[in-house]
Amino acid sequence: MSKTNVVLAIPQPGKFELQEKPYPKIKPGYAIIRTEIAPVCLEGSRIWSNHEFEMFHGGMQADYPDGLGHEGVGVIEEVHAGSSFRKGDRVVVFQGDHCGQCYSCRNALSPTYCDTNIDPRPGMNRVAMAGIQDWNESESGGWAMARYRIAPLANLYKMPDALDFRHAASANCSFGVGWSNQEVMNVKAGDSVLVGGVGFIALGHIISALHRNAKVIALIRNPYRRGLLEKMGVEHFIDPNDEDWLEKVQALTYEGQGVDHAIECSGVPFYQEKMFQATRYYANINFSGHTPGATLDFSPLDRVTHKAHTLFGQHDVRMLDRESLIRAMLDLDVQRMIDVMVTHDIPMSRANEAFDIQVSKQCGKIYLRTQE
Ligand SMILES: [Zn+2]
Ligand SMILES: [Zn+2]
Repeated sequence: MSKTNVVLAIPQPGKFELQEKPYPKIKPGYAIIRTEIAPVCLEGSRIWSNHEFEMFHGGMQADYPDGLGHEGVGVIEEVHAGSSFRKGDRVVVFQGDHCGQCYSCRNALSPTYCDTNIDPRPGMNRVAMAGIQDWNESESGGWAMARYRIAPLANLYKMPDALDFRHAASANCSFGVGWSNQEVMNVKAGDSVLVGGVGFIALGHIISALHRNAKVIALIRNPYRRGLLEKMGVEHFIDPNDEDWLEKVQALTYEGQGVDHAIECSGVPFYQEKMFQATRYYANINFSGHTPGATLDFSPLDRVTHKAHTLFGQHDVRMLDRESLIRAMLDLDVQRMIDVMVTHDIPMSRANEAFDIQVSKQCGKIYLRTQE
């Protein structure tokens, strides 16, 4: 019997199917991975609830009803001879394609910003995970929520034996994104870090900040997620609706200066505005939220130049941060915090439960077990 692939699809909002597709095909430079865990990202809410598909920077569609998920870990099932990988290697898959010849690839930055994830390759008309599938002339395997997946070798990281899949699967849009953003921001021991808008990206940021021995202050309203933060070890919670929320934040900082780093994870002006208000001079303000269409009106002179702030935002993990990220994951306290963050670990055959929980916001990060 010839091998097939099984792919998760959301043909209409609130409905899922497991579709049988042909087993993937690969060109040199790519591997087929038997995915073990595909963490749920925004497809768990926007596609499941509204059938909204992500548009990349150039306006290109990035996911499809039968093309879901970009985060994942698994085992190499097939790779061309001459590769430094072998069948059976356990790997983290960093999402997206790799061209090797663009600004992002040459500088070991995040594959999200590789040219092939923004503009189609010559002669092709899709980008990102769809582009990977088309480039390999394969009828399946572009995405993570499937038994088998195709990924460029350049975006695979061989896992240390001591690391298990459950911890490694936080390498993308949770701990990985927090870690890589904080490498850019240079979050250090003793720094104060304000985090606003707590979803799975914020949870990853908080693990990173706690591991770095920074003081974490959470602006949070969701009691369930506050409970997760308490278990992680966060001590400072402020309700953003409190009249004196700003005084409370400042009172927790050195000489009342304001926080050293403000990290906004909701993508909405309600929290973004507060990040500007709560920071000291020469602070970092990081935008890690994802709310398409949301805009913030501000005066660059008043908000940036007069305060000497650095503004930054980045999806994904820079290639140059992968090793330090994986090393941090070997820390037992980081593993303990990842175990708190991952509140649900659900077979892909029950994907509806995972997506309903995601929409309810009564969760941290949710994993799908793609072989079950
Ligand atoms: Zn590139
Ligand atoms: Zn993601």
